Amino acid sequence: MQPPSPTRQKIDRVLQSKLLLDASPSLSDVYTLINQLSNDVLDLYPHIACRTQCNTCCKGTSMPVATPAEWAILHDYLLRYWSQEQREALIERVQSLFSTHAETLWAVHDTIQQEADMGKVETFARVLPQLADTQCPFLVDEKCGAYAGRPAKCRAHGAFLFLFQEHVQLHACQSEVDKIEVFMQKQGTRKVVMPIWNHFEEKIVRTFNAPGATSTILAVWVYSHLQDGQLCEEVNLNPDFQALRQPPTT
Ligand code: SF4
Repeated sequence: MQPPSPTRQKIDRVLQSKLLLDASPSLSDVYTLINQLSNDVLDLYPHIACRTQCNTCCKGTSMPVATPAEWAILHDYLLRYWSQEQREALIERVQSLFSTHAETLWAVHDTIQQEADMGKVETFARVLPQLADTQCPFLVDEKCGAYAGRPAKCRAHGAFLFLFQEHVQLHACQSEVDKIEVFMQKQGTRKVVMPIWNHFEEKIVRTFNAPGATSTILAVWVYSHLQDGQLCEEVNLNPDFQALRQPPTT
């Protein structure tokens, strides 16, 4: 019997993504699987621009979210691979972001904690545009400065489907969502071969994080690890976010 073609192998892997996910014992295995599946999907749909130098998802309204376990990996990455100067520059970017957008950043943090319903979608739609002139603090010289340590949601961008109630959407920026619509119209069917992001999010939240753990945006994670103007060397998976937003007492 002929071995399956490389294209067939990619399709099979994507179709079996939930099984492969269930068999992934660690968060780093899940990251590896997401990387592999993203490569497969971007090979199957070369018109998707997310493999290029595009960084649209690192700017403006798509503030990246990480669970505590993902922040721990990113924090470790910063300590291992970033110089003191790089860390100081990151802190400056985060402090600058908070000096101009603190209220909105905390509003995004609060919205992330809400039940996933239409109310949450409407709050995001109201709040996120206020961050249109910002970018992820890890974006350095137009590239992700923490690529190997970036959270799962960044890895999945452009190659996964996102389910919300009865809606299915490409997990990507609006320009790629519009492009996939045109692609599906041309192919005459709405069938696409892509993994479901929700399964991955659920596994990461439930398997690698404590029950009730708080996820938040990367800017808030960094802000919660500042001490005397430096990045704390100890990771804290459960910071007191409420205390952090109080203005310092004099
Ligand atoms: S962590 Fe990296 S990939 Fe993710 S939004 Fe920030 S700069 Fe972009």
